[in-house]
Amino acid sequence: MSTLKSQRLHIGLFGRRNVGKSSLINALTAQSVSIVSPAPGTTTDPVEKSFEMDPVGPVVFVDTAGMDDTGDLGALRMQRTASVLERVDIALLVCDQDGFGAHEEKLVSVLRERQTPMLVVFNKSDLGSPPRADLDRLAAAEVAVALVSAATGRNIGGLKEAITRLVPDERMDEPHLVGDLLPAGELAVLVVPIDLGAPKGRLILPQVQVIREILDSDAMCMVVKERELRDALGRLAAPPRLVICDSQVVLKAVADTPPAVRLTTFSILMARYKGDLVKLARGAAAIHRLAAGDRVLVTETCSHCELADDIGRVKIPRWLRQFVGVHLDIDVAGGAELPEDLTPYRLVIHCGSCMTTRKHMLARLYRAERQGVPMTNYGVAISLLQGVLPRALECFPAALDAYQAALGKV
Ligand code: SF4
Repeated sequence: MSTLKSQRLHIGLFGRRNVGKSSLINALTAQSVSIVSPAPGTTTDPVEKSFEMDPVGPVVFVDTAGMDDTGDLGALRMQRTASVLERVDIALLVCDQDGFGAHEEKLVSVLRERQTPMLVVFNKSDLGSPPRADLDRLAAAEVAVALVSAATGRNIGGLKEAITRLVPDERMDEPHLVGDLLPAGELAVLVVPIDLGAPKGRLILPQVQVIREILDSDAMCMVVKERELRDALGRLAAPPRLVICDSQVVLKAVADTPPAVRLTTFSILMARYKGDLVKLARGAAAIHRLAAGDRVLVTETCSHCELADDIGRVKIPRWLRQFVGVHLDIDVAGGAELPEDLTPYRLVIHCGSCMTTRKHMLARLYRAERQGVPMTNYGVAISLLQGVLPRALECFPAALDAYQAALGKV
């Protein structure tokens, strides 16, 4: 809890009296932060609670007095609630099954004017559903909605996921792509296959981003195809600091790179940059536990035409079946939203997420995690299926430890 309060993401809860704002904070933090009472108007001054919320990180929940408060004291409390409105990064507009009325409409227009990301939370879903007309109106106005029950805990995980999607991009800390692995003046050799899958006349985004970050770090790089790697390394007067290869040639790159030179893949760098490498490495251990008939979801963020030897549709399913040696039911989904219910799957293998945001990927990871479904990504899975994952993770000891611990090896 060392993050300064001012640096934390502030999430305000607003709504009429007795819709369960305080209970909701208690459910989100799994603690008794706010006094909860069925008597309307129990929260007077804003109550703040600092909390580490997975996957967002350090946040402050701000509980406010009911926006329908009455009398002189009520007017004072309303003023304080209005000042909270001015400083929060995200607003949760809490209602119950009685629906979405004039108070809520007014608040939505104020939040829209301020461009504050908001989410309408219908609490008490254990007691009944909100009116269909309200849900349709909010959907038409493109206002995100979550149905939860603070009392029973229903969909509190879904609410955290929805909050994650609202976090401004600049608030999600992006780790380094490669700069921290390569001090100024050091050399990396990048191994880029030019095959049928390579776009014509250009490099793919992760390769371009890695080159750019190497240049930004005042380091150097040499780019070769996999066939030239051994020759290129032999011509260097001193070994490079790092070899970074495309996942699909990792086996050859490992064979051609001296063991003393660290090696990883573009996809593993992206897994750290766009997601959580430790969790994705831990999730990969589930590959070893797959049994006959298990369902696996291979999912890509973009939809694209299937190539002759498509990585997601052809190669990964083939390598996976060869590795486990039994029949698996493998669904491949491209371009679609990740299914809400992942529990039919024993494993989710996600693409490299180069075209999406870290926030989006972390929300997806969180969805799998809260449903108890392991998730890994293409780069980590391919290195495992090729038998070289420990080598490809040696730059990332925490991820390697997580993988080995999940295997029961440490
Ligand atoms: S986001 Fe995923 S599907 Fe889209 S280009 Fe990147 S790796 Fe491929």
